[in-house]
Amino acid sequence: MAETKRLGRAERPVGPLGAYNGGMAEDIDIPGIVTDEHLARALRGEDALVFDGAMGTQLMARGFARDDAPFELLNLTHPAAVTAIHAAYVAAGADVATTNTFGANRRALEGRASVADVYRAAVSCAREAGARYVAGDIGPLGALFDPAGPLAYEEAYDLFAEQVDAVRAAGCDLVLIETMLDLGEAQAALRAARERCDLPVLVTMTLAADGRTYLGTPPEMAAVALASLGAHAVGFNCSFGPDLMADAVRAAARRVACPLLVQPNAGLPREGADGLVYELGPDAFARAMEPLMAAGATMVGGCCGTGPAHIERLSALAVGKTS
Ligand SMILES: [Zn+2]
Repeated sequence: MAETKRLGRAERPVGPLGAYNGGMAEDIDIPGIVTDEHLARALRGEDALVFDGAMGTQLMARGFARDDAPFELLNLTHPAAVTAIHAAYVAAGADVATTNTFGANRRALEGRASVADVYRAAVSCAREAGARYVAGDIGPLGALFDPAGPLAYEEAYDLFAEQVDAVRAAGCDLVLIETMLDLGEAQAALRAARERCDLPVLVTMTLAADGRTYLGTPPEMAAVALASLGAHAVGFNCSFGPDLMADAVRAAARRVACPLLVQPNAGLPREGADGLVYELGPDAFARAMEPLMAAGATMVGGCCGTGPAHIERLSALAVGKTS
């Protein structure tokens, strides 16, 4: 496939905290295993990387309901449906297919399938769809840490470690830790990933309405903490539409050297006749992503409410920026 010149790293002013991790492109930590040169450039922030959009809302649009069975089990029971969604994103221009494994931890699976089997089936769906890169997806564990909740740090680490081992064994190109509400939980997952594999590890936090993480960490501080612990890209996902994410991206861009990954929702949802409807259509979503890319986000995709058409517009924009 011919290489297309893509959106490169934006010139970023380095703020007062820039020195925390160098704030310089040459300080970017390149992981041990990088699939190819395009991915290596993307990890240096020299090239754009287009991620896919939502999996959950796409499955719901195809008539699947979480109440029937966890969506992660569909990799085993309905692989053709999962593959079809990945294939639509690949056709739309996504470089990266994110595995349907958001809640594929031992705690949430409750013995219905093994973590390793779910990841193996999920990666095979993504590969079947012709994805250039497959990101092994790791979501939050669904409980707060002690003392706010029942989860001990070491227990969380062990659960994430099992997922990281499954991601590696299934042959992913990337580890994607996403929709993290709590910086502490994100750190446990990141530590497990960095200690147990040599793949690139990307971490995104989700933000509350006040623009901070759900536990109150300012977004740029979360980005600095995760980058300094060895994340190869950091950023934000889910939460709300691109417009409300711009301040967080600008603040993070001033403080970290690694690439920024943003995957916002298609705006805010409202109750429609057939369930939730997201306010931003494909064109409006792509337009709203422009300021985030101008602020330095070189890894872009969508979360809840985004579909293949959103990614198609976004991909055209990311490719078109510098061509
Ligand atoms: Zn989401």
